Amino acid sequence: MRPTVLCFSGLDPSGGAGLQADIEAIGQSGAHAAIACTALTIQNSQQVFGFEATSKELLMAQANAVVGDLPIKCVKSGMLGTTDNIAALAEFLREHPEYLYVLDPVLVANSGGSLGNQKTLVKAFVELIPLATVLTPNTVELRALTGIEDIDQATEKLFEMGAKAILVKGGHEDTPDYIRNALYIDGKLVSETRCPRLEGEYHGSGCSLASFIAGRLAQGDDLKQAVNHAETWLFGVLKKAETPVPNGQKIPKRF
Ligand code: PLP
Repeated sequence: MRPTVLCFSGLDPSGGAGLQADIEAIGQSGAHAAIACTALTIQNSQQVFGFEATSKELLMAQANAVVGDLPIKCVKSGMLGTTDNIAALAEFLREHPEYLYVLDPVLVANSGGSLGNQKTLVKAFVELIPLATVLTPNTVELRALTGIEDIDQATEKLFEMGAKAILVKGGHEDTPDYIRNALYIDGKLVSETRCPRLEGEYHGSGCSLASFIAGRLAQGDDLKQAVNHAETWLFGVLKKAETPVPNGQKIPKRF
């Protein structure tokens, strides 16, 4: 069987982000996706209307049901919804140090809607940071996690908080013509990419990138290779993204 990524992620009914993005991206990376569902959200391509988080007992029962059943090589987390779920995931990862772990520190949806109480989630994420093989924050999340405005200083601070590697995604920075992503391992910049900025807003681009990285890591890529593969793949699927309604965010075409 293909190496498996176990994702802790929420359901987005639009199919753009969340667990559907994870399943599609991981499938495209060549790995198999398993899901422990953290929340059911109510949203479309334009707006988040609300969500109901899974209890930590139900969440962990889902995850534990597939441990020992599927060849899990990597865990990936996106929306976790509650601090209880974050603490439960931290305990699960400490019980399974053999798993690689991609931490996408989701705090809000790209449309700006709430996917949890940002203040308490930020505090709880502190426990997960040292457990991650790589973190994939955008610059908004990087600033929120560290409380530091300057990107270089915030990255340094995240390493002081125990991060092993960080992919800083520059999509929210004021660079009208390009997006710069930077990969740091053990505090050092190891690669940097600039791709042309595509027009419009995209729903689920962060989930897709982090999941593709997890899928490649599960199959034995080193981190630099995994990030490189994922960035090339993501640019292709964003170029083909579909616009559901004039005001909606575009949905990446992952197939
Ligand atoms: N997970 C869920 C369930 C979501 O609904 C969203 C955004 O709407 C995200 C994660 C983060 O999405 P993005 O990849 O756009 O940052």
